[in-house]
Amino acid sequence: MDFDTIVAVATPPGQGGVGIIRLSGPEARALGEGLTGANLSPRRAIYSEVRIDEEIVDQGIALYFPGPRSFTGEDVVELQLHGSPAVLHYVLDVCCRRGARIARPGEFSERAYLNDKMDLAQAEAVLDLIASGSQAAARAAARSLQGAFSARVHDLASGVERIRILIEASIDFPEEEEDFLGEYGVAEDLARLCEDLEDLIDASAQGRVLNDGISVALLGSPNAGKSSLLNRLSGEQTAIVTDVPGTTRDLLKVDLVLKGVPVRLVDTAGLRVTQDPVEREGVRRAQAEAERADLVLLLVDATAEDADEQFSALKSQLGSGVNEATMLNLLNKSDLVSRRQYNAHYLSAKTGEGVEALVELIHKRVGITREATEFTARKRHVEALILAQEHLRASRAGLGSQGLELLAEDLRLGHEALGEIVGRVTPDDLLGRIFSEFCIGK
Ligand code: GDP
Repeated sequence: MDFDTIVAVATPPGQGGVGIIRLSGPEARALGEGLTGANLSPRRAIYSEVRIDEEIVDQGIALYFPGPRSFTGEDVVELQLHGSPAVLHYVLDVCCRRGARIARPGEFSERAYLNDKMDLAQAEAVLDLIASGSQAAARAAARSLQGAFSARVHDLASGVERIRILIEASIDFPEEEEDFLGEYGVAEDLARLCEDLEDLIDASAQGRVLNDGISVALLGSPNAGKSSLLNRLSGEQTAIVTDVPGTTRDLLKVDLVLKGVPVRLVDTAGLRVTQDPVEREGVRRAQAEAERADLVLLLVDATAEDADEQFSALKSQLGSGVNEATMLNLLNKSDLVSRRQYNAHYLSAKTGEGVEALVELIHKRVGITREATEFTARKRHVEALILAQEHLRASRAGLGSQGLELLAEDLRLGHEALGEIVGRVTPDDLLGRIFSEFCIGK
């Protein structure tokens, strides 16, 4: 493929100890050598001055990676200069005047994909790694980047391909249909593929949760210990960013990482029937949050005589838009009761009893069932896998009863859905959308 030379500052905006300018394309080396006046040899760090019109503007390290052994697959030059935005932009301007073009967001990764350095799911993992909100998410993204997720998709796709070939052969040689399908164990293969796909959907759904995080709404009776529970959860965990509420009627949002999973906890304070228009707006917002949430925690005081009624009252405040299956009943202040008569999760925000178990319960309820997340995945991937599953199931159900042409079509569609994940048959507009999410310089 024919590409021009692109350039960008690869380090974040602002001042820094080091600022990196990245060039990729046929002119990268010439531009790098023009700026440094040095002879750039492959994969060698060269300490050099950077001169523009005879004037020394900075000094730093120049690195040259000839294609195809580079990130993008093209000639790449990296100039590690001092992180002065003024100098970096001056150098960037000069590169553009000399024939390079400013890279679009994600264009380096897009070129890596277009030049077959990585597939689409791996290129997306670059973005996930950069944006990862926890160590577990970073680890999983690194595994996706190394191709762990893509390998599973490729395995499935080649399994489907094999069956497609057999079916197509049976269509071409109708007199041998029975033998073909029976002899090569198509039914068994298809059953196994469906099982593998199910497992991969499960793992990807978990990878997606790790990537995107989950949202949890917290709703409690007055004095049930909502603030105490929030403090307990945030105190025990790392990485807390708090959205300071604008007014007392606003929602309080707390970002936590609970056992590696990013969680946005929304305290839906003040969910009560009211005539005050401002408060009514607060209630409406709280209800909308609860509807959107992956999980709604209902908190009641365990010492209350009427805990069941309190749970019902909380549920009725939520409005009808919240799915009952996303609710979790919690009884706080377990340290004050000796008898556990209600069917709810008991905990004590004061002593910490049952809090760890609550975190595990949250994980389980949002579908995190595996010890470690194998890789990150995105909504797009999970959706494509589910689509592939529908087609494979349909072809499996039709095996033996349906015409072979219908079967072949279902397999083709299933195969295509899998191919879209790694980018074999991805339409251009989808590519544009995926790569535009990247930052410039990535
Ligand atoms: P909120 O109004 O729901 O936010 O409740 P708070 O967190 O302010 O707690 C109300 C009262 O209950 C405070 O006096 C807390 O100290 C107390 N409290 C909260 N959690 C517990 C608990 O687990 N055990 C005991 N014994 N008291 C608690």
